[in-house]
Amino acid sequence: MKPVIVVHGGAGRIFKDREEGARSGVTTAALKGYSILKQGGSALDAVEEAVTSMEDDPHFNAGCGSVLNEKGEVEMDAIIMDGKNLASGAVSAVKCIANPIKLARLVMEKTEHMLLTDHGAKLFAKAMGVPEIPGEKLITERSRERWSKNLEPDSNPQEFKKDPGTVGAVAIDNEGNVACATSTGGLTNKLVGRVGDSACIGSGGYADNHVGATSTTGHGESMMKVVLARLILYHMEQGTPQGKPACHQHRC
Ligand code: ASP
Repeated sequence: MKPVIVVHGGAGRIFKDREEGARSGVTTAALKGYSILKQGGSALDAVEEAVTSMEDDPHFNAGCGSVLNEKGEVEMDAIIMDGKNLASGAVSAVKCIANPIKLARLVMEKTEHMLLTDHGAKLFAKAMGVPEIPGEKLITERSRERWSKNLEPDSNPQEFKKDPGTVGAVAIDNEGNVACATSTGGLTNKLVGRVGDSACIGSGGYADNHVGATSTTGHGESMMKVVLARLILYHMEQGTPQGKPACHQHRC
């Protein structure tokens, strides 16, 4: 089977001054993931590598570059899923780690659970030897600026909800296995402890060798209403014709 990887760097508007950086970030991520697939590596390794690359790139709302919550802190969500056996791992509201997607994979592979959050995820990261980094290292000047702008009395709350840059990848390897990975800082000025779609199986992503794989981006609360990632696969399974996207049918 010919391997394929598809990556995304979030929904929403990309400002002109960030276009080039964002384009080069997704290209680099796709190439890194593809080089794993080309050498016979797994879809799971490829999506993890691609998403890690975008978490390390400050152009995206994931890892370094994540948007800030109402208190001006970074809290991140991530999920990874293996289409071969429906195994998945996720973390939510995690702080002070560089690559939430790697921690999500450790949850999948080293625990009997699927999702660890906040303090529990922090303890787990420590137990796994994942280095803790100062939260400040994940904060860019731009996200700080955006955060303080959104605290101004005349800011438009709808506008910051559209902040782009969540990252994700889906892949199929030469054995026909599929996988997905998604990582995000969530929504700007979100409440402390808010968990979005990206950490939730079936909303932020889904992978099933019998159907395909999805990684979603957009307004989490809307997508969670319809469990969008799994819903898309349902429509693929049913053979819903192109041109009738599942989310339109469900008004999200
Ligand atoms: N889905 C993400 C969230 O709501 C945000 C995004 O994709 O832009 O946390």
